[in-house]
Amino acid sequence: MSVEGEALAHGTLSEAGGPAAGAGALLAILRDGQARTRAELAQLTGLARSTVSQRLDVLINHDWIVPSEDTISSGGRPATAFAFNRGARIVLSADLGATHARLAVTDLGMAVLAERAAELPIERGPEPTLSWLVTAFEEMLAETGHPLSQICGIGIGLPGPVEHTSGRPVNPPIMPGWDDFPVPEWLGERLGAPVLVDNDVNIMALGEHWIASPEVDHLLFVKIGTGIGCGIIADRRLHRGSQGAAGDIGHIRVTSAGDALCRCGNSGCLEAVASGAAMAATLRAAGIDAAGSRDVVGLIRGGSAQAAQVIRQAGRDIGGVLAAIVNFFNPSVIVVGGDIAEAGEHVLAGVREAIYSRSLPLATQHLNIRASELGDRAGVIGAAVMVVEHVLAPGTVDQAVTAPA
Ligand SMILES: [Zn+2]
Repeated sequence: MSVEGEALAHGTLSEAGGPAAGAGALLAILRDGQARTRAELAQLTGLARSTVSQRLDVLINHDWIVPSEDTISSGGRPATAFAFNRGARIVLSADLGATHARLAVTDLGMAVLAERAAELPIERGPEPTLSWLVTAFEEMLAETGHPLSQICGIGIGLPGPVEHTSGRPVNPPIMPGWDDFPVPEWLGERLGAPVLVDNDVNIMALGEHWIASPEVDHLLFVKIGTGIGCGIIADRRLHRGSQGAAGDIGHIRVTSAGDALCRCGNSGCLEAVASGAAMAATLRAAGIDAAGSRDVVGLIRGGSAQAAQVIRQAGRDIGGVLAAIVNFFNPSVIVVGGDIAEAGEHVLAGVREAIYSRSLPLATQHLNIRASELGDRAGVIGAAVMVVEHVLAPGTVDQAVTAPA
């Protein structure tokens, strides 16, 4: 690898404009969707126009960019502009929850070309689950008319801790048989593309940040479903922690939980009182029929005052834990997502109440607490973001375009 390539291997968008910009760095500039001429790119990067031309040719040959239909006139003869080709490849993504799955085929700009949702209990184990996934993806590709060779990557979210570098689940509590299963190798062999795996809350945080809050540096995505988890965007990057366990707020002890038993084996965890499963149990104890988080949402939509009370209290319990995290981490946006978030304002009201009354004024001065804009699509969009950010990283593109065909 040349010195230039070395310098760019860990390049970011802010470094993309330097004089050492390779083809990947030019592509990074064009990924914002704006078409630019050779002259504009030369000015942005400080490169000679001939160098820009060479690198644009490389990108055109690999289909990453296309000459834009609009040519830009600078007074004299019109100059051709070049634009990112979001349709160059496709991404397959799947958000696998405890009981249901959502799948999507997207382009490189995260536009959804096909999607599917299904009941799919994760406890069926890795091979039955992933076999189903392969068949579903093949059917969806037949729908969109793309061959396997068009796939640039596959992104998977799993409802448990994942070692991101190997893509293997690590002691996932609700996923029997999945511990250390080689998900990337198993799927990669069958679909012929690189596979990236992460925890479902992490990919939701990525999706929500990318689509709804790209200008925000520090964001928390709190998923309230069967369990409770939190994805952390710090300095615009996903913070996974040293073992991939960052953001596991469901097992922080809360006083309101008393000695309520948690599925992790401890007692007094936030999840034991405020998860969708716990809310359903509270309602059952009051003689109301509710099996899980989606039943709780159904009761809210049906106007149940008791369900509203339970969900608001859960919001306060979650907000109490988040209040401490706000003081510690100082995010500017907290997004509330997951099944329970679909119950609307009740849960948000509880969360806001606890955070604003307990966090420090300086930390909450500009804090925005809102519901997920992507809703149940946050996971699949985020899994696609994870793949595209990996495949189109300047260093990865430079390697791909210099590799022998
Ligand atoms: Zn616990």
